[in-house]
Amino acid sequence: MAQEELFLTCFFVLQLLLLHLYLRILKIILMKLSLRLRFLIILIVLTVCGKSQSTFSASNPFYSQSKLPYEAPAFDKIKDADFKPAFEEGMKVHLAEIEKIADNPAPATFENTLVAMEKSGRLLDRTNNVFNVLTGANTNPALQSLQEEEAPRLAAHQDAIYLNTKLFKRIEKVYNDRNPLKPDAEAKRLVEYIYQQFVLAGAKLTDASKTRLKKLNEQEASLSAKFTNQLLAAAKAGALIVDNTGELAGLSQGVLDAAARDAKAKKLDNKWLIPLQNTTQQPVLQSLSDRAIRQKLMSASLNRAEKSDSNDTRNTIAQIAKIRAEKAKLMGFASFAEWKLQDQMAKTPEAVQKFFAQLVPAATAKAKAEAADIQALIDKQNGGFKLQPWDWDYYAEQVRKEKYDLDDSQIKPYFELYRVLEDGVFYAANQLYGVTFKQRHDLPVYQNDVRVYEVFDKDNSTLGLFYCDYFKRDNKSGGAWMSNMVGQTKLLGTMPVIYNVCNFTKPAEGQPALISFSDVTTMFHEFGHGLHGLFASQKYPTLSGTSVARDFVEFPSQFNEHWALDPKVLYHYAVHYKTGEPIPQTLVDKIKKAGTFNQGYRLTEALAASALDMQWHTLSPTDSLKNVDEFERASLKKTGLDLPEVPPRYRSTYFLHIWGNGYAAGYYAYQWTEMLDDDAYSWFEEHGGLTRANGQRFRDMILSRGNTIEYGKMFRDFRGHDPNIIPMQQSRGLIAR
Ligand SMILES: [Zn+2]
Repeated sequence: MAQEELFLTCFFVLQLLLLHLYLRILKIILMKLSLRLRFLIILIVLTVCGKSQSTFSASNPFYSQSKLPYEAPAFDKIKDADFKPAFEEGMKVHLAEIEKIADNPAPATFENTLVAMEKSGRLLDRTNNVFNVLTGANTNPALQSLQEEEAPRLAAHQDAIYLNTKLFKRIEKVYNDRNPLKPDAEAKRLVEYIYQQFVLAGAKLTDASKTRLKKLNEQEASLSAKFTNQLLAAAKAGALIVDNTGELAGLSQGVLDAAARDAKAKKLDNKWLIPLQNTTQQPVLQSLSDRAIRQKLMSASLNRAEKSDSNDTRNTIAQIAKIRAEKAKLMGFASFAEWKLQDQMAKTPEAVQKFFAQLVPAATAKAKAEAADIQALIDKQNGGFKLQPWDWDYYAEQVRKEKYDLDDSQIKPYFELYRVLEDGVFYAANQLYGVTFKQRHDLPVYQNDVRVYEVFDKDNSTLGLFYCDYFKRDNKSGGAWMSNMVGQTKLLGTMPVIYNVCNFTKPAEGQPALISFSDVTTMFHEFGHGLHGLFASQKYPTLSGTSVARDFVEFPSQFNEHWALDPKVLYHYAVHYKTGEPIPQTLVDKIKKAGTFNQGYRLTEALAASALDMQWHTLSPTDSLKNVDEFERASLKKTGLDLPEVPPRYRSTYFLHIWGNGYAAGYYAYQWTEMLDDDAYSWFEEHGGLTRANGQRFRDMILSRGNTIEYGKMFRDFRGHDPNIIPMQQSRGLIAR
């Protein structure tokens, strides 16, 4: 004992001496260094110390549930530095919870496995939900770099759960014993869904196949990243450079100034640069009057990634398609699409092909009729040429101006943002579903433009919170979206906290926010997602609200767009902001008529892109693929979408959705959900339109159901039959009503 103490004392003295020596050496070194280097070393030491201090503690706002009503995020307390420790701790705790479930010595039951899984990962969820709000709508460099750092870690975290063999064995046991759960339909659906997700992620593969799948996943991920980078570089290099401003006749001064500025930034003095947008058609094509320059720009767009240089994506996409086909084969499916459609509403590639077949003839016929109209205009102007894709938008714009001219400055005074929200969007929800809204000023927001409303049900009971953030900001992503800050679940006793984000132009101080009709539609759309979230009435978080298949999730949102033009709703909100006059009928007629303009072209180009997506993803690994262009040509011909005047919205070589953004075998979902929403709306038309009773039925059978019923059955139960294509064809103006 004494010897041990002596040893420890000696050891301690020795350590002190050594420390003293280190410090002296360090001081000598520091004195010899330049001032800048000394500063750098001190900075590094401080950073390291700072990092080690950022441990997770009760002072972190994510440590426990928010004390605010509805567990709303305490934006006034959350700091950027809180996220990293919360993510680290959140993943650690979640993994420990999952391991505990997997290692449970008791036989697997629904309660000790599925319900326990549903309850796990709360800290990680809380952190992630708020992180997504801020990185999407109010980001900064610190959050962006943390986002890059955490993305692969979160992906690996998911893998660690889905490929946990012991956990899967328990889920499989519960799945095999699931029939006694039958009276509780939601529980049964949960077991079936979770089991399916594990199987689709590869849980049933042999160890050797799992290793192979992981390897293929890695290869695909790196090829996908390569594609994204190649495309970015190709688009940048493909920008059109013009020497003579005369060639740019037709462009507005604003666009010309931007083109000059962009050229100057590349040290191209006295030149103009037109950057390439993602899509085949380029926005300036509708204004450029010089036909040769239009052709040049279109060709730059179509061939951006096919220049046989390092940015040529043809080889990359051929490899990705092959890897995906091989992955599908490993999983026991005939093609990647067959694998990926398992948990979607469409279920099979054949169902998607059948859907296309119902739409393609009418869409292409309308496009051909539009082409004939445009050709007539070209001939009338003695153009002396045959319409080509680079002419389409230029002449279509002239037809539009002549036939349907919608002057935004005439329309906008009738659409004041918050009047549209409260007297339009909220009013429609009140008339259909009986809900009411009250603005709250006591809850913290992440930015001053954000508004919060509390939502009440028909009996005045509370439903949830709705945040809206409508104005464009530099630190906000483009587009519009909805999501949850807090998800609804009876199991955990939480109610929905929903938000909508848009990018409308912010008015000058003290001026009203006047928006376009397309912005109005966007508000109804995003709020449709919001209602799907607010009416969620699920026990289990996995099945709650908008957690549904991609080819179903846009159904409630697109459906809600219909009410923007319903007379009962429209005349309630579309009132002149100064005079209080309701919107004149002539303007309403113009808005309605413009809705079907050029839809043959728009739908055909989208269907062509969808068809390419499906053709690429129904390949088998043994299909030989020598020539990407040849494959694309053959695919379009085979599907009847090879109209010379209407190229696909994205050609294979720059189709970012499917090679880089997770929409592989899923681009069709945009058109599919349109079929659902138009058909559902036609049910309303057949049954007296906007009434409380009709709204209640839609709420009960669709909006409140989350993913608790098979999608096809859910739709059939509401509509009385499988989705019908006719209403979509009518609303696109492909056939007469
Ligand atoms: Zn949407």
